[in-house]
Amino acid sequence: MLPRIFATSLNRKFSVLDSFGRTIDYLRLSITDRCNLRCRYCMPDAGVPDLSHHDILSYEEMLRVARVAVDMGVRKIRVTGGEPLVRKGVIDFIARLGALPGNPEITLTTNGLLLGDYARDLKAAGLSRVNVSLDTLRPERFRAITRREGLERVLAGLEAAQCHGLKPLKINMVPIAGVNADEVADFARLTLKHPWDVRFIEFMPVARDLDYGEEHRFAADRILGALAEQGKLELISDSRPGSVARLYRYDGGLGRIGVIPAVSQHFCGECNRLRITADGRVRPCLFSVEELDLRIVLRSSDDDIHLKAVLASAVAAKPEKHRIGESDFQQGSRHMQGIGG
Ligand code: SAM
Repeated sequence: MLPRIFATSLNRKFSVLDSFGRTIDYLRLSITDRCNLRCRYCMPDAGVPDLSHHDILSYEEMLRVARVAVDMGVRKIRVTGGEPLVRKGVIDFIARLGALPGNPEITLTTNGLLLGDYARDLKAAGLSRVNVSLDTLRPERFRAITRREGLERVLAGLEAAQCHGLKPLKINMVPIAGVNADEVADFARLTLKHPWDVRFIEFMPVARDLDYGEEHRFAADRILGALAEQGKLELISDSRPGSVARLYRYDGGLGRIGVIPAVSQHFCGECNRLRITADGRVRPCLFSVEELDLRIVLRSSDDDIHLKAVLASAVAAKPEKHRIGESDFQQGSRHMQGIGG
């Protein structure tokens, strides 16, 4: 069944509602499966075979999908990966995305390794904001978690993003029990000196073959416990639709602290997103086992009506909520690196 598509204004913009009345206006677009880190909770030890050039959507194909999605009501597009900054031509692609009719807001999620090199150009290309994923402030742990070097470069990337006005700068940290959860307070203290949003995201059991399993989960209540030991947290009300973080601030803090209880207290009722993988599959939910094939449609027809139908079917297939913790929960074969987070 196709979702209801309503004309919402005279300039023929549309807004897509899913079967549960949620407005779907946010697209997460993965532009590559490749990454310059090998985070243990994201990718298996043996790595993941790279997709071939032919398997990956070209920038032209992605722009076509994005144009159709914006026409259907998407307002914000987050460019992700793999590591999006490793794909050649990403700056020009971001500029073209932002210049689509409807001028969607373009944001990026990155591990920050190349941000020092690209922050200025990203800003000039029209990128509005950036989320940087960082799980430790300790060099030896960075090496252990990511299986690569680079903490200093990520920290320089944060400063560069701030300096070039990619604001508000958000840092996403995934606390994992027995690995880095003892750094929650260190990360939170960054908000005392910097106007950054530091957000703690619950570890998610996305794929079955990763180094860290269930026993490493560090749920929101434990995150809040660690934060409260540092000082009094003031809850900031944030009524933005689609906002997934509960926001707090320490007295005198310049930045904000977010807690995203993706697993323990899901916010599926607020979900406003679709995800497209680098090989052109639409995922109705982060935890979907089923995907819809956009690539075959892109490569077999020039008529956008078919693309619209696939996107609309993905919206219609959005489940009410994820099934983590339920007896029927199934882990998929894709790792987060192949989904985009
Ligand atoms: N390379 C980019 C980056 O690091 O932001 C984009 C892709 S990365 C897969 C997107 C996000 O997924 C990162 O913030 C990473 O921490 C998060 N992630 C990966 N595996 C996860 C897991 N099992 N649970 C929670 N978050 C995870």
